[in-house]
Amino acid sequence: MKKTHYLAGLVLMSATAAMPAFAADDCTIEINSNDAMQFDQSELSVPASCEEVTLTLHHTGTMPKAAMGHNWVLSTTEDMPAIATDGMGAGADHDYIKADDERVIAHTALIGGGESDTITFSTADLKAGDDYSFFCSFPGHIGIMKGTFSITE
Ligand code: ZN
Repeated sequence: MKKTHYLAGLVLMSATAAMPAFAADDCTIEINSNDAMQFDQSELSVPASCEEVTLTLHHTGTMPKAAMGHNWVLSTTEDMPAIATDGMGAGADHDYIKADDERVIAHTALIGGGESDTITFSTADLKAGDDYSFFCSFPGHIGIMKGTFSITE
């Protein structure tokens, strides 16, 4: 007997996300996260010539979202701790991001092992030389899961 095909939809979604309409360029970022509570990069940057950035977060682990969920949140480095604290209060149902938090520049969905999420965000309000950071807002992860984000001239 054949097994059910409930995974087919997920696989198709992942395949679509991995195939942008244009070739990967400097305005495209791919970052991995894993079951060891880690991102695989600690410094991200895009050139100022990018009007928008397309970022894909992958979770290469197998643990479920409830136990080892990850997201990718961008803000100024100054705002980062408060966003994480408020996000904890927002809870899992809101991907650990406070509703309409204007300090958040961009964020992906919270994902579990084997999942990916792709977002596109404008860099019009971001300035070269300013201090931006990215992090995971899952409770307790920000201590390890964070890095710098910069706009380069
Ligand atoms: Zn995380």
